[in-house]
Amino acid sequence: MVKTEREHREDIVQIGRLVFQKGWVAANDGNITIRLDAEQVLASPTGVCKGMMHPDDLIIVDMQGNKIAGRAERTTEIGMHLKIYELRPDVKSVVHAHPPVATGFATAGRPLNLGLLPEVIIGLGCVPLAGYGLPGTPELTEPMIPLIPKYDALLMANHGAVCYGEDVYKAYFRMETMEHFARITLVAELLGGPKVLPRVEVDKLLDSRTRYGVKAKSAGEPGCPVAAEDLGSGEERYYVTRAELIGLVDEALRARGLA
Ligand SMILES: [Zn+2]
Repeated sequence: MVKTEREHREDIVQIGRLVFQKGWVAANDGNITIRLDAEQVLASPTGVCKGMMHPDDLIIVDMQGNKIAGRAERTTEIGMHLKIYELRPDVKSVVHAHPPVATGFATAGRPLNLGLLPEVIIGLGCVPLAGYGLPGTPELTEPMIPLIPKYDALLMANHGAVCYGEDVYKAYFRMETMEHFARITLVAELLGGPKVLPRVEVDKLLDSRTRYGVKAKSAGEPGCPVAAEDLGSGEERYYVTRAELIGLVDEALRARGLA
């Protein structure tokens, strides 16, 4: 059933509350939009906490980002939302937030791209990292442009994350899967490092998408997700004691006649 504009407003308010309660935003961070039709986008306004919005606080912008209805001001990040709608006609909602663990990966310069968990491989494939761009300028969106057609969830370097889908709930749940994945990856790292699945198992999971009725964009891109074989021997870690390390350095210096 097609939803009314009022129902879309209530959905954005509800998702805003969830995003806030999850701790994915601080103060007035983040923004949520729904594409109402070919010409109009319903958007959370700037300068309000996304956990405390009223349906009438929302604004409507056209596809150039001009405000056409609503009292409040539009977010400076609206350009990113509009670019996603332009490049992905299948997308009807975009959720942008700063979930702390995923944003930690984005700030450390690390994509969430390892083939580790069945639900993540089936649902997201992987979450690539878009380079940094100054918020509120076209530079923010520039590094995301090549990634938007191929993925449904992106990390934004030194900033946050953006997820999108056929409706606002799908976009929200993608962000939930992504943040959960980031937390599990972090714990696995603390426990000695995640064990990446082999290619054959990653491929079986990607193939099972049709069985689960999953329409995800990111399937089988090279390195998305990364399988055990992709890591190669160069990624293997070796641990040495302090004495062993000093011994190795001494040996290298002696070999060059420097010690
Ligand atoms: Zn942001």
